[in-house]
Amino acid sequence: MKLETLAIHAGRHVDAATGAVREPVHLSTTFERDADGEYPRGYSYTRAGNPNRASLEQAVAALERGHQAVAFGSGSAATLAAFQLATPGGRIVCGRDCYHGTAAQLREIVPAWGVDVEFVDTTDLASVEAALARAPTSLLWFETPTNPMLQVSDIEALAELAHARGALVGCDNTFASPVLQRPLALGADLVMHSSTKYLGGHSDVLGGIVVVGGPGRVLEGLRHMQGTGGGVPSPFDCWLVLRSLATLPLRVRQQAANALAVAHFLHADRRRVQRVHYAGLADHPGHAIALRQMEGGFGAVLSMEVAGGKERALAVAARTQLFTRATSLGGVESLIEHRASVEGPRTQTPPGLLRLSIGLEHADDLIADLDQALG
Ligand code: PLP
Repeated sequence: MKLETLAIHAGRHVDAATGAVREPVHLSTTFERDADGEYPRGYSYTRAGNPNRASLEQAVAALERGHQAVAFGSGSAATLAAFQLATPGGRIVCGRDCYHGTAAQLREIVPAWGVDVEFVDTTDLASVEAALARAPTSLLWFETPTNPMLQVSDIEALAELAHARGALVGCDNTFASPVLQRPLALGADLVMHSSTKYLGGHSDVLGGIVVVGGPGRVLEGLRHMQGTGGGVPSPFDCWLVLRSLATLPLRVRQQAANALAVAHFLHADRRRVQRVHYAGLADHPGHAIALRQMEGGFGAVLSMEVAGGKERALAVAARTQLFTRATSLGGVESLIEHRASVEGPRTQTPPGLLRLSIGLEHADDLIADLDQALG
């Protein structure tokens, strides 16, 4: 089936008891045993399994064309569950430009498990090859496009390099969503989403999910982290994300079209905007790779650098009227953020950089707002 059809039908069913077209939210934490002590309906205790979570997992696995999905309470919990696969004593090579929380996990949590960590520029295949050659590696992890620099890495080439060295490949697909990019088809072993972003799409639910291409050790490890580690999403949160998936293709394609229009406007404004980072622009270093591995758009997050550093960037953000000054991305409303301030003292992000999450407003109105905010 096509993506649009899967987005509406995968994981969903008419409720057998009532005929309700949307499934009820199963808040019950515990489920009845039969007289013989068995659980013939498949559910025993909601941390181990819940009907709303199962529906969401089926839907996201279908959208990523994967085998199974494993849902967690946040994108960060999902990422950490994937990193746990490298224990004991493994090694993770991670793309240098990535969500700062992911980098913090790899600096502050994962090394204490006895796992070696190296950051590398995944847009540079020679550097990745050298990092993989330095020591046996359990997992190569990267985002594409990245947060916040919108760098693009070649998923197929990275998967080939990593697999040649026996490493698993995990791709954080949050920025692209399964609408624009499907890493499993390009060779990744795991795909992760902060479903707080496009999958949820309305800035009202926190979640994370990891999709695997097949059965085996990786899936078992993730299920163990989910059921025994216990960082599970609530039934209502699963219900909300599943609700939002129905409109995911429409939202993401329109948001990406809006982002391209905004990127072209900013890119043409050489006087007030120093640089625009967006893979849809022909002069972006990853444009050719993005054209090859993405379909239907380049995502709806972009970054711009303004002359005058932090002070001027904050002044521009202070003047926006439609863009809300807030962190996060992927919702229907447009957001603007001075990224270095959020990332703290270790940030590598240029001080004049503003990250824009483009929503579903009309692109003309967003452009007019940025035009007046740039002054
Ligand atoms: N991965 C990426 C690319 C993100 O942007 C984020 C959050 O911004 C995360 C992971 C973490 O997700 P969460 O905030 O749902 O824990």
